Amino acid sequence: MSFIASIDVGTLLGCQIVLTLVYAIVFFCMKSIYPYLRGAGAVALAFFAATISNILLLLSGSIPAFFSIGLAHCLLLSAFVLFYTGVLHFFKSPRTIRYAWALTYITSALIFYLVLSHDHTRTLSYIIAVSFFLVRGVIALEILRHSTDRIFLKIFAFLMAAYAIFALNRVIFLLIYAAPPNPAQRNFLQTVSVLFSVSFAFLIGLSFLLMLCGDLLTLVKDESERDLLSGVLNRRGIEQRLDTELKRAERGGHNLSIALIDIDHFKTINDYAGHAAGDTALRDVVSAISSRMRAYDSLGRFGGDEFLLIFPNTSSADALIVSSRIKQSVRELSSPGAELSLTISIGLTQAAPGELAGPFLARADKALYNAKNAGRNCCRILLHGTDAEAGSERVILPPSRSNLLQQ
Ligand code: GH3
Ligand code: MG
Repeated sequence: MSFIASIDVGTLLGCQIVLTLVYAIVFFCMKSIYPYLRGAGAVALAFFAATISNILLLLSGSIPAFFSIGLAHCLLLSAFVLFYTGVLHFFKSPRTIRYAWALTYITSALIFYLVLSHDHTRTLSYIIAVSFFLVRGVIALEILRHSTDRIFLKIFAFLMAAYAIFALNRVIFLLIYAAPPNPAQRNFLQTVSVLFSVSFAFLIGLSFLLMLCGDLLTLVKDESERDLLSGVLNRRGIEQRLDTELKRAERGGHNLSIALIDIDHFKTINDYAGHAAGDTALRDVVSAISSRMRAYDSLGRFGGDEFLLIFPNTSSADALIVSSRIKQSVRELSSPGAELSLTISIGLTQAAPGELAGPFLARADKALYNAKNAGRNCCRILLHGTDAEAGSERVILPPSRSNLLQQ
């Protein structure tokens, strides 16, 4: 108790000013470097408003109460609403902040009225307490709503809730002791309050910074796994997906099939119609494939004009049905009688138990080679041998499905 009483409020406010200013600069910089980071701009403004408010609070006694009490508290309330706006943007929440701003306007008007009528005492502190409780409480609830399975967000929400409840410290004091605090108790409460504010400003800023960094990492990871031209996964992305699916199939004992798809005579399109037409053809083929694959299949660009399609939980026979639909869809891209028609060749295979990605992909490549050798615009299946010599491979052409393969 005596230790807390010995802490100088002015020094604490000075620390808070430096802290909020540093956060304001950090979030402004993040927003200008990565404009797509949601919420960073509003949170930067929130910390900036908090900095001004703390400067005004620090100057109290040397400047009129209109600024040191009225303006300071209105700015601090606005800072919380701006922070709330940032949190809503971050979570892409459709919730409106109109009510939070309405509460800020009404409270600000009341605070200014009471300051101007020289009533700096009880009513004023209760109005400030309740308004801060409401705004912080709403932020805590909003974060809690989005914290399912995210322990870090849950801690953040509970900290904010504690901060909201702490805003009511004077009201709670009155309820417990049935009398307002005396000057010594008021000083103690004020020191604790500023101490809490500094700690919360630090934690809130750090938490939001971590949230933004998490978002940034997800974004960078997503970008690094995506093909710029076609928008589907790139080689790194699709190979990682294949590893994941192989492990899942092994764990659950499911089937897993893949198809290597290559555009026939793609170089001719580049040579005759230009590179831009080649790019358009690549995008068209991707949308034709995407329109026929199932929601849980994954597509990635494996190389120049080659794509890898993963069919989780699917036998090669079922993958063949989807593949033939895809082949048809690509063929429909070219108008009848067009000089350059788009067709694809497909090599299909199914994973053997415990198989690694390398041999699995090599077999799909061999199947694709077979399809190319068979005259292109067709599909070939190559399965890992099970009944012949161990490790041998055989071409499967089920009689009932051979028409699908040849068409
Ligand atoms: P095949 O029928 O045997 O598959 O012959 P192909 O002409 O389709 O295949 P080849 O491997 O001979 O040529 C692929 C071409 O794809 C060569 C390369 O210039 C072109 N290519 C690779 N990436 C891109 C790209 O991003 N855009 C465009 N326009 N062309 C690309
Ligand atoms: Mg090709």
